[in-house]
Amino acid sequence: MEPVARAFAHVANMLFPRGCVGCDRPDAVLCPECHALFNGCLAQTLGTAEMGRWFACGWYRGAVRQAILSWKDHGDEECDRPFSEVLCSLAEQAGLPDHLGNVSREQVLIVPAPSSLASMRQRGRRHMMPLATGLASYLCARTGMHVRACEALENRGTAGRSVETGGTVQRSQRLKGRITTRGKILLKNKAVILVDDIVTSGTTMRRCVDVLSSQGAEVVTVLSLAHTPAGKPTKAGRHFSSEI
Ligand SMILES: [Zn+2]
Repeated sequence: MEPVARAFAHVANMLFPRGCVGCDRPDAVLCPECHALFNGCLAQTLGTAEMGRWFACGWYRGAVRQAILSWKDHGDEECDRPFSEVLCSLAEQAGLPDHLGNVSREQVLIVPAPSSLASMRQRGRRHMMPLATGLASYLCARTGMHVRACEALENRGTAGRSVETGGTVQRSQRLKGRITTRGKILLKNKAVILVDDIVTSGTTMRRCVDVLSSQGAEVVTVLSLAHTPAGKPTKAGRHFSSEI
């Protein structure tokens, strides 16, 4: 968000107390009922990850969808904190701290799935970084390991595409070569946890994991705020979010 827009939003929130980002209930950033919808710990197979599975907080529909769209595409930065909390809770439910403790690791990196430059410019920020940083602090305190957030990936795509358009094959072709490692970040023998906001077909997620693995990283698992299950499209409409 631009500084002026951010200042305006701040003043507007003081003058007109906000409602829940998921259901508009007054006086809450994320009300207890909507918060509970992010408490799902949905597990799916991911053979290329050390844990063999990836995890999502909830299904991408209803209040979960509404909340993520407001946070991601309308710059509701007050959601950074509750979303960071639900991601930490997901890590705990998935058994991640215990899993990390079972193997000696030099360093653990929390890597956000990258947005395209166009999407980042539109949003004015890297929206997954506060969540990655929050998870790193949590895991650091929980395990005593050296854990830090690191933007190890970038998306060279020039335009965001709808999260809900295109089949798996088309998405895979669009992504080929777009997601790469960023700068000279050393990934060899680093344990990596990939974090994302919405996983749809899983094409982006798998591409990210492949790129990280090809640089010698050990991808432990992937944590996402929400999952759009295949064959279960969310509410039809034009308010689609850009996943990449
Ligand atoms: Zn609510």
